[in-house]
Formats: sequence, C-alpha cells, structure tokens
Amino acid sequence: MASSEGSAELSIEGVGKRFGDVVALDRVSLKVAQGELLTILGPSGSGKTTLLKVVAGFETPDGGTVKVGGTDISALPPAKRDIGMVFQNYALFPHLSVKTNVAFPLEMRNVAKPEIDRRVSEALAMVELVGYEARLPRQLSGGQQQRVALARAIVFNPRLLLLDEPFGALDRKLRETMQLEVRRLQRRLGLTTIFITHDQEEALVLSDRIAVMNKGTIQQIATTTEIYEHPANDFVADFVGESNIFHGTISASGTVALDGGGSVTVASDKPAGAKVGVLMRPERFGTAGTNLFNGEVIESVYLGTSFKLRLAVEGGRELLVRQPARGALPAAGSRVTVGIEPDAIHVF
Ligand code: ATP
Repeated sequence: MASSEGSAELSIEGVGKRFGDVVALDRVSLKVAQGELLTILGPSGSGKTTLLKVVAGFETPDGGTVKVGGTDISALPPAKRDIGMVFQNYALFPHLSVKTNVAFPLEMRNVAKPEIDRRVSEALAMVELVGYEARLPRQLSGGQQQRVALARAIVFNPRLLLLDEPFGALDRKLRETMQLEVRRLQRRLGLTTIFITHDQEEALVLSDRIAVMNKGTIQQIATTTEIYEHPANDFVADFVGESNIFHGTISASGTVALDGGGSVTVASDKPAGAKVGVLMRPERFGTAGTNLFNGEVIESVYLGTSFKLRLAVEGGRELLVRQPARGALPAAGSRVTVGIEPDAIHVF
C-alpha cells in the first residue's frame, strides 16, 4: 500500500518524549496511508504506548508534530481529534448497558436521537452483538466486552482507529478470531489504523505494514514479508520469528567468512571486506544443500507438523532447525546433517 507524502493520512514527524532520564521516544517519524493498518511491534518498554498516547493527545511530546490529513493536530485536545480507541483494559462504563456505552461518543457529539439509534444498531451489527443491547458489561465475556469497546470506537466514524493490545487479556483461540474480525472490519470501513502489540504472530496476521520499535526508536518499517524475509538488523531478525544469526565478513564474491571460523555461501552482492550479519530461518533448512552442517542433536521437540531441533555444529555454534515431521523424531545425542541454499540465507 502506498505511503507517499501525498496519500499519508497520519504523519508523525520527529516526535520525542522523555520521562526524566528515560527516552521513551527518540525522534520517531512514520506515515500511515489512508485505509492502511500499521502495527507497532516491540518489546515491553520500547515506547509503543507512549507513541499512541501522543497521537491521541494524552501525552504532550517534547518536540515534533502529528498531522492528520496534512493538518497539524498537535495542539488539539483528545476529544477534538476524531480518533477511536480500544485499549487492553479500556473499561466500559460498568453501570451502563451495551447500547448506552456504544451511544456515548454520539451523545458527546450531540447527534440526534434517531440517528444515534440507527448508528448504534449498525455498529453492534458489525461486531455481531445484535441482541445484547440491554446487557451490562459484567454480563458479557471478555471477548464480547472488547467487541463493545470496538463498536464504541468506530460508531462515530473516526478518522483514525488506535488499538493498544486490545486482545491481550483474551485466550489464544478467541484472540485469533478477534484478529480476523478486526481486520475484516477495518478493511470494510477503510479505517486508517494503528495496532500495538508485542506479539509478532499477531503483527504478521494483521498488518499491511509493521513498524518494529526498540528503545524508543523505529528499527524498520516494512511489509510483513519484508520484515520477516529481509530484516534490517539483528534486533528485527531476532524479534520477529525464530532465527539463527551469525556475523562475519564477505571474503570473496558470495562467501561469508564467519567470525570464529567456517564459512557459508550466500547470494549477496555486498563487496569483499564488508562486515555482515547472516540470518538463517530454521524452516529454511533441508536434509541437503550447498551449505551443509553436521551436528549433534542437543534437543528435539515434536510439534505436530514439524520437528524442532537444536543442533551443536562445527565451530561451537548452535543451530535451530525445523523439519517436516516425518519418521521418527531424532533423539538427543544422535547425529544429523542439515543443509541450506544460498538464496535462503539473508545477508544484512
Ligand atoms: P508495554 O508493552 O510494556 O506497554 P511500551 O512499549 O508500550 O511497553 P511505553 O509504555 O511507551 O512502552 O514506555 C516507554 C518507556 O517510558 C518505559 O521505559 C516506561 O517505563 C517509560 N514511561 C512511560 N510512561 C511513563 C510515565 N508516565 N512516567 C515515567 N516513565 C514513563
């Protein structure tokens, strides 16, 4: 999806925020295109929530601007920003019915009563909660409560939707269902959305693009496949997916001499002498290949569709390998040979 200057719906430019000695945001810039779902993925404390609060207007940045549709909204109070929000623990009003909860943003905007009824019904239909209008939040499951929160966030047709770990408290199965529902709804309404998570699988399922954050800075912004296949650095490679990361020097065209000995053949046009990182995803290994590794199984786990093996290979290295589950699970102590092709290795 395009995210050029012209089509950027949300534009965050050089936003910084400190809390005492802690740099929560270090001049963060990013753009979100109209109708795009951008996930901000990062470990705890990386600055995700602070960034969202700056966009929503709950936190004043030390510097930088936030623009929506090209207009600087930095000086607007939260209620004037036209943003729908759902948080992990964004409690619904406990004493108000589902219907009254969802109607709230419309009441605040002095929308006429018949129009409120119409829009609340529409929003509840979208989150599949028709028939629950009269219930109180405590009479709903966690997933249903988050659906009400979602209905309340979209009922006034906001310009932006911000979701901060909205399914963090739900069990895995429900979480997966809700992810797909949010994605469908977001696409259908064409809502420009930022979704925060520390769960890489959730980010891969949901996003048009992912921004990976660490220590207040954006490490990489790219499509899901780009982030997984071509991570920009060690942090991204390690944080998204399982990985084997080694370091070395390009010694000749297509060869990396690994620090600590040994070499691998790669498909990279980086010049000789360049210091590089080498990423081999566990699932890219087979039983043969241009680069062969003989090793002893340290640990083996049966995962239904695959075997996950930890191998001790030459040069004191460990390799994590996934293979389709066929035949017997290799026992700890047994020796195996695995291989990987140059074009399955990412050099960064
Ligand atoms: P999590 O996934 O745990 O919610 P996060 O990536 O959302 O983490 P933030 O909540 O944005 O991270 O916090 C970024 C950093 O700023 C952290 O070191 C945090 O302790 C600090 N921080 C956030 N809010 C405040 C505050 N009000 N006062 C002081 N420090 C704060």
